[in-house]
Amino acid sequence: MKIVVLGAGVVGVASAWYLAEAGHEVTVIERRAEPGLEASFANGGQISAAHAEPWASPAVVPKVLRWLGREEAPLLFRPRADPAQWEWALRFALECIPGRFERNCRALAGLAAYSRDCLRALRAKTGIRYDELSRGILHFATSRRDFEALASHAEAMRALGVQREVKSAAQCVALEPALEHSEDRVVGGLYSGSDESGDAFKFTRELARLAREKGVRFEMDAPVRGIEAAAGEVQSIALERGRAQADAYVVSLGSYSPLLLRPLGIRIPVYPLKGYSITLPLGPADAQAAPSVSLTDEAFRIVISRLGSRLRAAGTAELAGYDASVNSVRCAAIVRRVRSLFPQLGAATTVDNWAGLRPATPTNVPLIGRTGLKNLFLNTGHGTLGWTLACGSGRALADLVSGRRPPVDFAFA
Ligand SMILES: Cc1cc2nc3c(=O)[nH]c(=O)nc-3n(C[C@H](O)[C@H](O)[C@H](O)COP(=O)(O)OP(=O)(O)OC[C@H]3O[C@@H](n4cnc5c(N)ncnc54)[C@H](O)[C@@H]3O)c2cc1C
Repeated sequence: MKIVVLGAGVVGVASAWYLAEAGHEVTVIERRAEPGLEASFANGGQISAAHAEPWASPAVVPKVLRWLGREEAPLLFRPRADPAQWEWALRFALECIPGRFERNCRALAGLAAYSRDCLRALRAKTGIRYDELSRGILHFATSRRDFEALASHAEAMRALGVQREVKSAAQCVALEPALEHSEDRVVGGLYSGSDESGDAFKFTRELARLAREKGVRFEMDAPVRGIEAAAGEVQSIALERGRAQADAYVVSLGSYSPLLLRPLGIRIPVYPLKGYSITLPLGPADAQAAPSVSLTDEAFRIVISRLGSRLRAAGTAELAGYDASVNSVRCAAIVRRVRSLFPQLGAATTVDNWAGLRPATPTNVPLIGRTGLKNLFLNTGHGTLGWTLACGSGRALADLVSGRRPPVDFAFA
């Protein structure tokens, strides 16, 4: 079949790759000059298959109340005159109700493990390189209260088949010696040795190159203006210059997916959840001072990954509409925290600040599969986990388009 994939972020490119692997003739349409320049550009780098959880949880409610009105708060609501924003916020609040968090964790756990396996198989098959590290993820706490909450949660997750080992403070430092000098002492944490990290942008760019070699066409600098449908199916894609036609269409437009679907009467609960990252170049003297195990800092809700000779720290979630501008106050807070955790890091000459819009559903569970139009498919809404879930979602999508049932327990549409 001829398939058009809309959007060349990590999710769209992975979809194109697996569709081509399944024997389809694929064209990717993207408004930017290169793949991966939006939400997939400078994310936290974690492939957190054993830590695939939504932000919406009963535990986040008291924290949100504590953070109210603080410009540096990890989770911030900036009210706008946008009904979609208020609806999303309300649905997020409902997902914090006990029981729903567990349901959403269950939905994500299977897809995340499948996705990690797909990524490993892809790596073995193609030799793709993206500053990858397979040293696991350590989720650490710097207060006893947080540590106890993490440990009891690990117990609950074990029932879902998700393995996280509870580690004492000394064990955390043994796993990641760079934490030894932290000004805020580590109290304990959870470790998942099967988790990984790597640069999502490098991966997206490399996978696009491999896909091109396989025959996938990339139409870049090609903004989509609309999806044209009649008689229960998509007829064509209206571009700034001309039209594109295919047998089937996949929407992977990140945070912009709902905007192009709405005129078709298809409403999806995806809204931009803005996050920030900082990237520090590491000098030769930083080899020991910077961590190489990927880390999640429970107190500040930031993730830290070593990407070759760079250190990336990312986090915070801001419900602020489609404004993707960088807020230097929030980036400076991340830099301060990184420096206090690793005080022996040398003074970096430059720090790259970045902001990206996560395409988030209130549950953080992505939307993968069919729509009301018979040749229109979705692969979008991956929220805080798009890099973790990209390969599994792409492969499952290719199965669904090809009329096969994906080999993973997930509620595909
Ligand atoms: C700060 C931060 C940290 C994160 N950390 C992690 C992490 O550690 N691990 C993890 O798993 N995930 C993480 N994520 C989430 C992950 O980065 C996203 O879920 C993922 O990148 C989403 O990919 P996507 O392809 O759906 O969207 P995008 O990468 O945004 O791709 C969508 C593409 O569609 C294109 N597009 C949009 N509209 C149009 C149009 N009209 N015409 C043509 N093209 C269009 C865009 O240009 C873009 O290239 C993080 C996100 C942020 C912001």
